[in-house]
Amino acid sequence: MKHFTFLILGMLSFLPISVSGAEPQAPPPADHLLDVSLDIPRSMIRGSLKVPVRAGQERSFQTGRLVIGRVTVNGRETAFTAREGMLTVRPGENGVAEIVYEGTFKGGTPQGDKNYGVVSSTIDDRGISLTGTWYPQPEELERWKLTVLLPAGFEAVSEAETIERTTRDGGALFTFEFPHPAEGLSLVATDRYEVLEERSGSTELRAYFFKEDRELAKTYLRHAKTYFELYEKLLSPYPYKRFSIVENFLPTGYSMATFTLLGQDVVRLPFIVETSLGHEILHQWFGNSVYIDQEKGNWAEGLTTYLADHWYEEKKSKGWEYRKTLLVNYGAYVNSSNEHSLRQFRSRTDLASRSIGYGKAAMVFHMLRTMMGDDAFFGALRDVIAERQFTAASWGDFQAAFEKRSGKDLSPFFRQWIDEKGLPEVGVESASLRRAGNRYEITLGLTRKGSTVALDLPLNILFLQGSEKTMPVTLDADRKEVTLLVDEEPAFVVVDGNYDLARKLTADEAPPVIARLIGEEKPLIAVEASGIGTYQAVIAGLAKPEVRQEGQKGEEQTGKRLTDADLKASTVVILGADNPLIKRLFGALATPSAGFSLEIRKNPLNAEKVVALFNARSAEEAAAAFPKIAHYGKYSSLSFEKGRNTDKKTASSERGIIVELRKEPVVVDLSLLRTLAAVMDTAAAKKIVYVGEYHDRFSHHAVQLRLIQSLHKKNPKLAVGMEMFQRPFQKTLDEYLGGAIDEREFLVRSEYFKRWGFDYNLYKPLLDFARAEGIPVVALNLRREITEKVSREGMDALTDEERKELPREMDFADEDYRSRIRQAFDQHRNSGEKNFDFFLQAQVLWDETMAESIDAFLAKNPDRQMVVVAGGGHLVYGEGIPKRTFRRNGLPYTVLLNDSELDPAIADYIIFPQPLDGMTAPKLMATFREDKGRLIFNDFVAESPAKAAGLRADDVLIAMDGVPVKTVQDVKLALFYKKKGDPIKIAVVRKRFLLGEKEMAFEVKL
Ligand SMILES: [Zn+2]
Repeated sequence: MKHFTFLILGMLSFLPISVSGAEPQAPPPADHLLDVSLDIPRSMIRGSLKVPVRAGQERSFQTGRLVIGRVTVNGRETAFTAREGMLTVRPGENGVAEIVYEGTFKGGTPQGDKNYGVVSSTIDDRGISLTGTWYPQPEELERWKLTVLLPAGFEAVSEAETIERTTRDGGALFTFEFPHPAEGLSLVATDRYEVLEERSGSTELRAYFFKEDRELAKTYLRHAKTYFELYEKLLSPYPYKRFSIVENFLPTGYSMATFTLLGQDVVRLPFIVETSLGHEILHQWFGNSVYIDQEKGNWAEGLTTYLADHWYEEKKSKGWEYRKTLLVNYGAYVNSSNEHSLRQFRSRTDLASRSIGYGKAAMVFHMLRTMMGDDAFFGALRDVIAERQFTAASWGDFQAAFEKRSGKDLSPFFRQWIDEKGLPEVGVESASLRRAGNRYEITLGLTRKGSTVALDLPLNILFLQGSEKTMPVTLDADRKEVTLLVDEEPAFVVVDGNYDLARKLTADEAPPVIARLIGEEKPLIAVEASGIGTYQAVIAGLAKPEVRQEGQKGEEQTGKRLTDADLKASTVVILGADNPLIKRLFGALATPSAGFSLEIRKNPLNAEKVVALFNARSAEEAAAAFPKIAHYGKYSSLSFEKGRNTDKKTASSERGIIVELRKEPVVVDLSLLRTLAAVMDTAAAKKIVYVGEYHDRFSHHAVQLRLIQSLHKKNPKLAVGMEMFQRPFQKTLDEYLGGAIDEREFLVRSEYFKRWGFDYNLYKPLLDFARAEGIPVVALNLRREITEKVSREGMDALTDEERKELPREMDFADEDYRSRIRQAFDQHRNSGEKNFDFFLQAQVLWDETMAESIDAFLAKNPDRQMVVVAGGGHLVYGEGIPKRTFRRNGLPYTVLLNDSELDPAIADYIIFPQPLDGMTAPKLMATFREDKGRLIFNDFVAESPAKAAGLRADDVLIAMDGVPVKTVQDVKLALFYKKKGDPIKIAVVRKRFLLGEKEMAFEVKL
C-alpha cells in the first residue's frame, strides 16, 4: 500500500500571532497575491507574486529551480540576489514588491524513496500537480490570494476558503483566497475532473475525481461526512469553510489546508476510505490549521495516527491489536543505529522514522489519555486548537495543555517519552503464590529497564473459575516486588495484555513477521550454488547482504561452512526448500507448493532474530513476487503465483507477558482405570512403542520386559531399541545376542560400565530375553564423547570426523522442548554445564540421533515392530524421540511412561507399577582416582567392606580374584559377578614409609 504523509512545504519559522482574547472578527484580506498562467505543452508556469514590503527590511523567498525574471518595488525595478534556490530582496521604500518568474516542471519522476510519497511537481498533458517550490515561497506564514489562468474545461484546486471561477481570454480563471496565515500553497488542475458536492453541517465538501471514478467520489464524500461528524464532536468545529478530496494523476498522499490530494492508484484501494481518508481529514485540525513547529519536533503524525487509524480499530475493540502492531514494528525497524527521540522527529523518511514519529508518538498520546482520562485528554486537545490555530504548536504546547487539564507536572513524563530515545523494557523475573488466610497472595518480581519515570503497568489476574480482575501497579524502580491479594484461586497474571504501555515486547510476544526481515540491516543469506540463479531477485533485493553457500557436499562447495555462532548472531535468509540448512535447524519442513513463498520463523538459536525461508519455482516467480513483500510487513507467511498474492498468515504470539500461577487440578476417573494387561492390545497395534523409565527402578524394567514379552507373543517380528547403548557398539551387541560372545565379554567390549554405568542387573533380564528369543536390540545413542564435547564447547567445536556421526536432521525449533530443557539446565546450573546453547545442542543431538537410529532400523526392517526403552525425559510430550522419529517416517506410535506426573499430552498411558526391590551388584563402598594408568583407592565410606578388610587410601588396586584391574569399569565388572556376602581377593601395591612399595593381598567380604 501507499504511505501517507503530511506534506511540509519548505521549512518555515513560526510567526507568533496573538489570537487569544481577540474579539471574533473577519480576518484581514490576503496581502500575498500570486498570479499564474500555465503553458501546458511546454510544461511551464509563468507567475507574478506581489508582497508587501517595508523599507530596509530584507525579505527572502525559496525559489528552488525557478527562474526569476524581474523584481520591482512599487513598479520600479530593484536589485535582488538569487542564489542556491533563495531570492533576497532589499526594498528601499515601503510598498509592494512584485516578483516575476517562470518555471518548468516536466517532473513525473519520484524524488527520493518512492515509498514515501514524495512526488515531483509536474505540468504535462495529464494535468498539473504543483506541490513543491513552484512560486517564490516566503519564510513566514502569510495570507494568500491566488489567481490561475487555465485552458477552458479545467478544474483547479488550491488551499482556499473561497474559490471563484470566471472566464478570461477564452480560458478559465480561478481565484483562490486563503485569508489565514498559511504555510504555503499548492495547485492541482486537470480537464478530467468531475466535481461532486456534499455538505457536512456548515462545511462544503467537494470531490474532484476523474470522470471514470465518479462512483468512488460518492463513496469518499459519504465517508468524509462521517469523519467530519466524528472530529467536530471529539475536538472542535472544522477550522475552514470547505474541504475537498482531490484525485491526482501522480501517486501522492498529501494533506493540505482545505484539501487532501490522493493518487488515482491510491483512491482505488478499497481500504483508504476506512483509514487514510480519516487520517488526512484529521490533519485539517492537527497539521493543517494548528501547524507544526518543525524545529521542535513533529507531534502531528502521532496524534493523527492515534485519533484516526488507531481510533477506528479501537471502535472495533481491536485497539490492543493496533497498539501491539505499532510495538512489533518498532522492534522490527528501529535499532540502535537509526533510533532517535520524538523531539527529533520531523517527517518520515523510512520505516524506522515512521515507527518512531507515528507509532511511538501514538503510544505516547495513548498513555496520556489512559493516565488522565478522556475528559481531560480531549479538553487539553481542544485547548491547543483554540490557542494555536493558524500558528505553529510544539510538544511544549501540548505538555502545558495536558498539565493544565490534569493538574499534574508532566515534565518527567515528557522528558522520558519525548526527549529520551528508545522504549523501556518490562519483565517478570519471579512469581509465586501462597494461601494467606482466606485469600491468595501473589508475589511478582517485576523488572524495568530503560525508563527513568514510573511506569503504570496494568496487570490482569485470570482466575481458575474463569473470572478476571485488573490490578494496575506502578513500576517505579528497576526491580520491584509487588504483592497482590485476591479472593479467588488465580490461574494466570497477564502483564499489559492490552498494550497500554509503550515498551519493548518480549520474545514470546513478538511474532516472527516479515517486518523483522525488512528491518534487518544485514541478513545472512544461505544459498546453494545451484540456487543463485533462481533467487537472484531476492539476493539483489535484500540490502547489502553477505551471501554464503551452505552445502551438504563439504569440500565441493566453495562457500564457507556456516557455524552455529554465525546462525545465532544473524537474521538468516534460507533460499530454497531443499537448502540443507533447513534440516540442520528445523529437521525437515514440507516444501511449499506455491510459485513463490516466504515464511518467517523464529531463529531457533536466537529468539531476538528470525529465519526467512524463501522458495521459488523459478527465477520469474521470484522476480515477480519479491518486490511486493515489503507491503506485507505484519505477516509471517506469504504465497504468490505469478506475482499475485494467494495466501497470507501471521504466526500466533502471546498477548501480554503471561505468567502461569496455578493449573486446574487434573482428575482421573477411577472407573476408567485399567491394568497393564489391558493396554497391551492397543500397544500391539502401533509400529513403535515407547516405554519410559527411571533408570534405577526395577519396577519400570519389569514393566518393559512384560510389554516386550507380551508383544513378542503376538508378533515375533519384534525389535528393541535402547538408549543405553551407543551406535558404535551395535556390532558387539549383535555378537552377544547372536551367541558369538558371552556376557562378560559383551560387558567389556560394549564398555557398558563406562558408557552407561547403571547396575547391569536392571537391564539383564531384558537382554537375556532378547538373546534367548533372537530379538534384535538396536543401539540408539550417539557416542558419549560427542555429546559431552558439545555440551562443553558446542557443535562448532566438533571436528569434521566427529561431524560425520551427527544426525542429518536436527530440529532446534520446538519451543516447548527448549523451555523444558531450559528448566533442567537451570536446575543443574551448578553441575558444570555453563552454556545453555551447548547444553541444548547436546540434548537435541542425543534425541535426534536416537530418532534417526530408530528410523534407520525400521527402514531396513520394515516388517519389524519396535519397543523403545529410554529415560522418561526423552519421551514426555513426545518431544524428545517420538516426534523426531515421526517427522522422519510418519509411523504410528504410542508412548507409555512409568510413574510420571499426570498431565494431558504428556503420554498416551501412564503406568503406576508397585515398587519392586532388586538384587544389585555388591560394592566396595570406596572412591577411586585413576593416575598414570593405575587405579588408586581414594576414600572409603564408613561401612566400606574394603576398609574393614584393611585396605587404605592410596593403595594401588592391581587385581580382583586374580584378574588384573586398571579402571573403575574393571572393578564394576568384577563385582557384577559376585553376590552380597561373597568373598573377593584384592591385590594392591602399598607404598610404605622409607621401605618402598610392596604388593599385598586382602580378602574382602562383600
Ligand atoms: Zn499523517
